[in-house]
Amino acid sequence: MLPPGSTIGIIGGGQLGRMLAMAAARLGYRTLVLEPHADCPAAQVANAQIAAAYDDPRALAELAARSDVVTYEFENVPVEAAARLARDVAVLPPPLALEVAQDRLTEKDFINGRGIRTADYRAIDSDADLAAALAAFGGRGVLKTRRLGYDGKGQRVFRGGEAVTAGAHAAMGGVPLILESLVAFDCEISVIAARAADGSVAAYDPARNVHRDGILHTSTLPAGVSEATAAAARQAAVSLLDALGYVGVIGVEFFVLPDGSLVANEIAPRVHNSGHWTEAACVVSQFEQHVRAVAGLPLGDPRRHSDCVMQNLIGDDVLSVSDLAREPDVLVHLYGKAEARPGRKMGHFTRLTGSFAG
Ligand code: AMP
Repeated sequence: MLPPGSTIGIIGGGQLGRMLAMAAARLGYRTLVLEPHADCPAAQVANAQIAAAYDDPRALAELAARSDVVTYEFENVPVEAAARLARDVAVLPPPLALEVAQDRLTEKDFINGRGIRTADYRAIDSDADLAAALAAFGGRGVLKTRRLGYDGKGQRVFRGGEAVTAGAHAAMGGVPLILESLVAFDCEISVIAARAADGSVAAYDPARNVHRDGILHTSTLPAGVSEATAAAARQAAVSLLDALGYVGVIGVEFFVLPDGSLVANEIAPRVHNSGHWTEAACVVSQFEQHVRAVAGLPLGDPRRHSDCVMQNLIGDDVLSVSDLAREPDVLVHLYGKAEARPGRKMGHFTRLTGSFAG
């Protein structure tokens, strides 16, 4: 176990890094954030910041020298940077997780390789590829960039009947794409799970997620799925953790079909927006859980003591904070972002909705 007073390096300075730094501080650890933007959400609460690009060799050398372990808060950390760091300091979760999660094609191959079902998918590198794949999927599908897509960005949905016009591939930036079959799901859920270096695991209950404009709007516990579906989701997450030799917290998103079976959508090798509810409804939040895992502490109990709904505060939603603060049983969390631009995650709140009877 890392002794208190040790330093945890965090690559990325957004709200997830901020909440990791806060959890680390409560366990007596120091944090050092690598992030090019000054006054970023994480650096406001961390002990120190290295203000440099994520792949700056000198900054990476400094981060390694000043940290006892390095973790990250977003999945697009350059893999070469993580691998270079790993020569000098422990990098957790292992850089393999980044490699798998950064490319939707690699990710789907990996998930299916564990016997976990995903949507059907095809790599798309031309208009001809797209026309052939759409025909194979009955004209319906979701076209996504293989890399660097998030919150529904870089996606085009085909609901049937649309012709593939010349230039469809170029219109998505001419980058490598993937077409997924369109999943007719009942609802979306996610599981936040953790694995420690000794192989012990802890999985929180699945949350039911509702998106608006491609951005997570609410996460609700309980998810309203059967115990068999919840158990299958937890089991799939644990299987992926084991396969990656993972240490830390992972988020795994699923579609739930009308018969209760699961189709995995994607994995996030980090703490996850749909796990923010854990800070209000569990004794050990996903953030503390991640810090515990990378610092070599025993994992915390993932049971929740309350049912709850987490809601994101996007853009001007943040103006409702004084009303929310009046309510009992509401935990408000803001990220220290100065400007409330449309679509920007400014904070979230979790409303406890009753004791968990299970
Ligand atoms: P993603 O960026 O993969 O998380 O996708 C964003 C959202 O688009 C998901 O949360 C779903 O609501 C929807 N979506 C993504 N892929 C599919 C799919 N293959 N079939 C149906 N809906 C999808």
